[in-house]
Amino acid sequence: MKMKVYWVYKILPAFVFFTERFIPKKYQVAVTRFFICVFVRPNHIHQKCFIEHELTHVKQTYRTLFLFPFLYLIPYFRFMFEAEAYARQAICFGKKEYVHWFAQELIKHYNLNISYKKAYNKILNYYNRFRR
Ligand SMILES: [Zn+2]
Repeated sequence: MKMKVYWVYKILPAFVFFTERFIPKKYQVAVTRFFICVFVRPNHIHQKCFIEHELTHVKQTYRTLFLFPFLYLIPYFRFMFEAEAYARQAICFGKKEYVHWFAQELIKHYNLNISYKKAYNKILNYYNRFRR
């Protein structure tokens, strides 16, 4: 199994594994598990930007002093965490249109019970903030 160490906040490690293991659903390309481990399907196009999304979750893990997986269970936090990660991913893809696409993902797959407009605005907010 191929593995690569990435660094978040310059000094904190994230372990990225290229494997089909631990990635549950068909639509998912990558997942963050066990706090600082990222699992990415090998051979997926745009892999770099999916890793960028997951590394955001690793940052959130460090930032919340490892409370991330527990906070993630609460829709309010899940929404914030995912909007931030999708904003990073949209920036990585280099097109603002992805904000629209990811807003749809967010309302479809994350059990959040929010409107498209709310999802779109939240991602766009992070997107504009990070792009500066
Ligand atoms: Zn995510």
